[in-house]
Amino acid sequence: MLSKIALEEHFGAVDPNIVEQSATHFTPDAWPAHRARLLDLHEERLQTMDQCGIEKAVLSLLSPGIQSLHNPAQAIDWAARLNDYVATQVAQRPDRFASFAALPMQDPEAATAELRRTVVELGLVGALINGFSQVGDEQTVVYLDDPRYDVFWATVAELGVPIYLHPRDPLESTSPQYSGHPWLYGSAWAFSVETATHALRLMGSGVFDRHPGIQIILGHLGELLPFNIWRTDHRLAVAPRGLNVQHTFGHYLRNNFYVTTSGNFRTPALLNAIQEVGSDRILFSADYPFEDMREAATWFDAVELNETDLVKIANGNARKLFHI
Ligand code: ZN
Repeated sequence: MLSKIALEEHFGAVDPNIVEQSATHFTPDAWPAHRARLLDLHEERLQTMDQCGIEKAVLSLLSPGIQSLHNPAQAIDWAARLNDYVATQVAQRPDRFASFAALPMQDPEAATAELRRTVVELGLVGALINGFSQVGDEQTVVYLDDPRYDVFWATVAELGVPIYLHPRDPLESTSPQYSGHPWLYGSAWAFSVETATHALRLMGSGVFDRHPGIQIILGHLGELLPFNIWRTDHRLAVAPRGLNVQHTFGHYLRNNFYVTTSGNFRTPALLNAIQEVGSDRILFSADYPFEDMREAATWFDAVELNETDLVKIANGNARKLFHI
């Protein structure tokens, strides 16, 4: 069994009561057990990590988390309380846990200050942002390429910590293509399309030209991007439609992005990701408790790949990225 570091492993909390956001992802029968797993850090979670050879989990708040709190004052308050909570939990077992910060992107200045506070004072290892943020009212959608985040990205570059761009569902009001087909939402489809589009927006915004050192992590083996990136560049070369950046999107994918195996336990998809972004930029993850840690580990331990690449993906790349 390979020793593994996992980095899309979610938690919830009852104070503030953010755990209930995840109820919609489960049937009423299955929710109580998953709710308990989101709230647990030191009991069943650690036991399962032991059984799966997961030496360390980088924790993060569930989705959409802070990003859906359209009242900026509430977002700022909840993010700080949740970050303080998880930092206390990590301090109890620094050998087994690290954590990403949750950030109130509704207020760019506050989000920037909270990133600095959590990294410098609390020792968190970066931040996980659940896609766009609703700002001011529920129907407002603000993506991370918005100019209001220029100082935030400069601070990310200065601190040298990665940002995990995690999925959330698009709003029905802004995404009519999903109307009437509820099964298209969530991790079955909409999560990946939404997050991949957000990542392309960042690439096209020039943020990686201004700050070439920024590192973004995408889950689910890259949210479809490794499969399609050549075609995107191939067409943009012919019809750039106003795009004005220094490199191809494939260059940004291979220099500014990592992808994790979270929730995508499929060897052909992993091999495609290795071919497109290289084994140095792939990281093991499970997506617990939305996915089964055992299924993730059992699959990964049996992948037929050279030992050098397997160890890099299992733990070596994460050690370098997080200076563990
Ligand atoms: Zn996740």
